[in-house]
Amino acid sequence: VDLSDFDPGYTGGLGKKEVEERLPDLTRRLGELQYLLYADQRYGLLVVLQGLDASGKDSTIRRVFADVGPVGCSVVSFGVPTPEELSHDFLWRYHQRTPARRRVVIFNRSHYEAVLVERVQELVPRETWERRYHHINEFEDLLAAEGTVLMKFLLHISKEEQRRRLQERIDDPRKRWKYNPGDLEDRKRWDDYQAAFGEMLTRCNMPTAPWHVVPADRRWYRDFVILEALIGRLEGLGLRFPDCDPAIEGARVE
Ligand code: ADP
Repeated sequence: VDLSDFDPGYTGGLGKKEVEERLPDLTRRLGELQYLLYADQRYGLLVVLQGLDASGKDSTIRRVFADVGPVGCSVVSFGVPTPEELSHDFLWRYHQRTPARRRVVIFNRSHYEAVLVERVQELVPRETWERRYHHINEFEDLLAAEGTVLMKFLLHISKEEQRRRLQERIDDPRKRWKYNPGDLEDRKRWDDYQAAFGEMLTRCNMPTAPWHVVPADRRWYRDFVILEALIGRLEGLGLRFPDCDPAIEGARVE
């Protein structure tokens, strides 16, 4: 997969107004499906969000999951690994945080950092990250076989849109706290990241754990694409409320 084949500004011919009008119904529907997933008890849902700095990971979580109740849903953000985490295998810290059945967990960055930042910044040698694609596939296969539904989204932004957003972090006092000089260092490695994304998409896209490349220059289209994908996948699971004890039927509460 070559990421340059994907247009970060793509909107499928749809207009902002018409899509924004549909978003409330979609977030509500996702909320209903999460409630059903919780009641059904057979599956967990792991949502993986990857993307460069300022690609909109935090805002995606805020907006897409706006109507998902906090009972049964949580976000885990992964930063630089601690010494303890580094003393284990690279998947250790991620596996512990995967969802139990009934639960939704959103990974804000994920085990894919092991083949992204760690590769691009040369934190580990090539032979180490090379073998990780295989282990990631095996890991996700295990999760899927045990009842975890995986949905992976790469927020794909253009270099110009990232420039605009990073500049805004400098110029807007309300956003300045997000400014991190390290982001500019990573920006210098833009092409290396695009190549690492391409290889990740090529090697870790399995039917049970598909990648979705999300055109993310426009927030409304990004949210729309992710909502449609999540709703479609959850609707396809045939979720249902569990059978109740027949003795409850018709019982009256005094
Ligand atoms: P974010 O940028 O996601 O909003 P932070 O500002 O806390 O949140 O940044 C998290 C940082 O942790 C990022 O710079 C990312 O590159 C880094 N990071 C995440 N996972 C790893 C990893 N496995 N190894 C090294 N650095 C990592």
